[in-house]
Amino acid sequence: MNFQLTEEHLAVQAAAREFAQTELLPGVIERDEHQKFPAEQIKKMGELGFLGMMVDPKYNGGGMDTISYVLAMEEISKVDASASVVMSVNNSLVCWGLEKYGNEEQKQKYLTRLATGEIIGAFCLSEPEAGSDATSQRTTAEDKGDYYLLNGTKNWITNGSTASVYLVIAQTDVAKGHRGINALIVERGMEGFQIGPKENKLGIRGSDTHSLMFTDVKVPKENRIGEDGFGFKFAMSTLAGGRIGIAAQALGIASGAYELAVKYSKERKAFGVEIAKHQAIQFKLADMATNIEAARLLCLQAAHDKDMHQDYGKSGAMAKLFASKVAMDTTIEAVQVHGGYGFVKEYHVERLMRDAKITQIYEGTSEIQKIVISRELLK
Ligand SMILES: Cc1cc2nc3c(=O)[nH]c(=O)nc-3n(C[C@H](O)[C@H](O)[C@H](O)COP(=O)(O)OP(=O)(O)OC[C@H]3O[C@@H](n4cnc5c(N)ncnc54)[C@H](O)[C@@H]3O)c2cc1C
Repeated sequence: MNFQLTEEHLAVQAAAREFAQTELLPGVIERDEHQKFPAEQIKKMGELGFLGMMVDPKYNGGGMDTISYVLAMEEISKVDASASVVMSVNNSLVCWGLEKYGNEEQKQKYLTRLATGEIIGAFCLSEPEAGSDATSQRTTAEDKGDYYLLNGTKNWITNGSTASVYLVIAQTDVAKGHRGINALIVERGMEGFQIGPKENKLGIRGSDTHSLMFTDVKVPKENRIGEDGFGFKFAMSTLAGGRIGIAAQALGIASGAYELAVKYSKERKAFGVEIAKHQAIQFKLADMATNIEAARLLCLQAAHDKDMHQDYGKSGAMAKLFASKVAMDTTIEAVQVHGGYGFVKEYHVERLMRDAKITQIYEGTSEIQKIVISRELLK
């Protein structure tokens, strides 16, 4: 067992930290306030290779391992979780799914541009009536010979209005249940594809969340990923890896809030001393640091399992379940350490507290993670 990061890992971590501090920190409060998508920053992230980190270099990716991805996600999320969700969806749901299950033509046509951030992607599974219960797909993809006729609505889609490529899960054959579901590559601008208004959210307000409407959209057969009926498996397999990214996002939100709390506790004085000298504050910091370290180890364990081609269903779900709770607990305590200053926007911790909540909801709620974990335990 080796707990040492390699030179390459440390370099990726340092580059992500530098980028977050210099490019993401300025303006993060305003972007949150006005729900402004970090377009310029995402463009730069693409140029620096953060949007296709694990993609094979032959498709223009960084060829890095999942550990590097976790380290970069943590650093970016410490500062701007709205930017890191774009990074997470593009890397682990869109690029990974296409590279693993797409055919060569699809990879050349889409992945080569997604990996550099020239275009970004969206992953479209959730619907108004199908969230945790993803098998209840109402969106239909009727087989019309050389194309599918796509009809229905997708909800809560990250990168909804900024993506160029959408991986859409839809039901082709109801009689076959989840074995009758397909995953289709839908391009922005296809006739009959409409984007709904932007959601007004509690957190990750800079990210771009929309519902999508499909009315008689003709999707060519060559845009289906995998064999007929592979769509549900595609979605579940892709989400299993996606959870490692969201776990790392939660870890970053927690460690960002913790670092701010440590700094503030050394500056703020109460009763004639820095508040860090009060044992009640010291104990809060000790609990935060211990929980964050445990969350980090779970994230790295899941990333290591994936890199070693071992099963990462359980370890990824454990990492997400635990890290998202740590994000929530830590950010609440970080606000407390800041007192009244924690309640206003300038000190960043209130935003991190709002951002933390989504990590317990998307890519499988905490309850769903417990179902995944317990299923594995009781096999
Ligand atoms: C900001 C944001 C971005 C998102 N981005 C995307 C995206 O890019 N692509 C995408 O496809 N989706 C996306 N989602 C959707 C997200 O994945 C779903 O909201 C989530 O899976 C929960 O589904 P739901 O909202 O329908 O809640 P429900 O499934 O209706 O759940 C409601 C509550 O019931 C609980 N529950 C449900 N079933 C069970 C059960 N069997 N046992 C115990 N408890 C249960 C849940 O845990 C939850 O607490 C996003 C959501 C948000 C808010």
